[in-house]
Amino acid sequence: MDSNQKETIPEIYVKTSTLDDGTTIINIEAETTESENNAAPPTSPANALSQADIMANFDDILQRARLAFASGKTRNVSFRRKQLENLLRCYEEHENEIISALEADLRRPKQESLIVETEFMKNDIKHILYHLDDWVKPEKPSKSFVNMLDDVQIFNDPFGVVLVIGAWNYPLQLLLVPVAAAIAAGNCVILKPSEIAGNCAKFIAETLPKYLDNDCYPVVCGGPTETAELLNQRFDYIFYTGSTRVGKIVHAAANKHLTPTTLELGGKSPCYIDKSVELRTAVKRILWGKLINCGQTCIAPDYILCSKEMEQKFIVEAKEVLKEWYGDNIQSSPDLSRVINQNNFQRLLGLMKAGRIAVGGKFDASERFIEPTILVDVKPNDPVMEEEIFGPILPIFTVENAYDAIKFINAREKPLVLYVFSNSQKLIKEFKKNTTSGGFCSNETIMHVGVDTLPFGGVGMSGMGSYHGKYGFDTFTHKKSCLGKNLALLGEKMASARYPPYSDRKASLLSFLLRKRRPLPNFYLTHVFALGLGIGLTFLTNYYLQVRKESKSN
Ligand code: NAD
Repeated sequence: MDSNQKETIPEIYVKTSTLDDGTTIINIEAETTESENNAAPPTSPANALSQADIMANFDDILQRARLAFASGKTRNVSFRRKQLENLLRCYEEHENEIISALEADLRRPKQESLIVETEFMKNDIKHILYHLDDWVKPEKPSKSFVNMLDDVQIFNDPFGVVLVIGAWNYPLQLLLVPVAAAIAAGNCVILKPSEIAGNCAKFIAETLPKYLDNDCYPVVCGGPTETAELLNQRFDYIFYTGSTRVGKIVHAAANKHLTPTTLELGGKSPCYIDKSVELRTAVKRILWGKLINCGQTCIAPDYILCSKEMEQKFIVEAKEVLKEWYGDNIQSSPDLSRVINQNNFQRLLGLMKAGRIAVGGKFDASERFIEPTILVDVKPNDPVMEEEIFGPILPIFTVENAYDAIKFINAREKPLVLYVFSNSQKLIKEFKKNTTSGGFCSNETIMHVGVDTLPFGGVGMSGMGSYHGKYGFDTFTHKKSCLGKNLALLGEKMASARYPPYSDRKASLLSFLLRKRRPLPNFYLTHVFALGLGIGLTFLTNYYLQVRKESKSN
């Protein structure tokens, strides 16, 4: 497609398939053209659906999920475990298909697909399975004096039926990692893959239902029109990954029903390079973070901030590293993905018009290939410095020092992640302390996302809420606060001062019982316990000796 050609609005099709057990799966699909991606052609236009049909189908799917949740089966931890094991098996049994689908959608090299999708998803499920029994247990928070005799607990309640909407750039991982967390927490889940990565969406719609309970975890396909219809429905939680623009639409739709949401959004993630770094390593790590998946990564370093002197050194090193990685003819290298579609390709060519090209700059529309490109002399209000790049273009904006860099970052929207390359721990701390971003990563790019004990998410315009590991489980869990008392006489006697008729004596007793007391550190508690035990034993011994003495004297 050339730049003058308009993209057509996709048509909507219904596709039904019947599984071995007789279950009917309904998929609503938007047609994707062969030039956009290589997904299988859509089903016959004779099956085109009206909006009313789509709504009726969504109603039906949601109703089945609601009934499944109400039946209580997802509250059973063994059921959840079984579903997660099935999902893991699905990843293991279809690894090659997944890699092929990613190659068809993004021309993604196998190594990248293994690291950032299949291995990532497998490890995520294994992590959940190892810890699930602990996570589901009610938490026992510390108790104050007044609740000493009570049962105080935080009960982990699933929300109910949740909607998870994925994005195209990591089309499996971004959908299925939150889905696994939602399953672990005991929810039913409606899965909505991105229509833009058509081959991956097809894989998800056709393969997952063979592994997961179909009433609890249905897959719904479609584009913006269908997602908008879906969002008219009432969910108990919505988890969305995608652009900030659509994130606002999702948030507004959720607001109608006060539905809680997690929004995993995008933005510009800056990368500051200090003159103290070992530059070759820094350049490699930055370029890898920028070029994996052809720059179409929400946490790719979006632009560089450094001094003029560092800019020149960076360019020299970058040229050498690119040659080492991709050879003289980058287009022929199998190790660089392609831009997802013509829309994004044309958008990126537009962004390349800012400043001056210091490295790269070649492109080929027939393959949606863009050479890794470094831009210099860009201005703060150039589009490439204002909108998220999401492609293999790396602008360098020069600043005098770290202080200027911090000022520059703080004058803009809060990034999803901030990268700092420096040998000075003091300087790294300055950035961490004086800026706000979803995550922070020093002397590395991207890898923070793989630390499953860290929450992953944005702040401000880069998102709200977080997930990964236990944070994912907690995201999809309502923390129900529970107080359990008994009806025994002692407790009732102590609490009876609250009943009318009120009096000063009752008020002062209540204020004594309710008074906040500084908790004793554990160290003191053991001493208090030992002292109590000593007093108790002394008392018992004296009592015993007394009884013996008396019985002897009798
Ligand atoms: P996308 O076009 O695939 O859209 C995401 C989802 O939103 C899709 O399922 C799509 O069907 C739906 N959608 C699109 N338009 C809609 C509309 N008008 N109404 C309702 N639903 C709609 O993906 P994208 O938005 O182009 O994704 C790229 C963006 O996502 C980038 O900004 C990137 O930074 C961000 N992203 C963020 C993360 C994260 O974890 N924070 C991860 C990946 C991508």
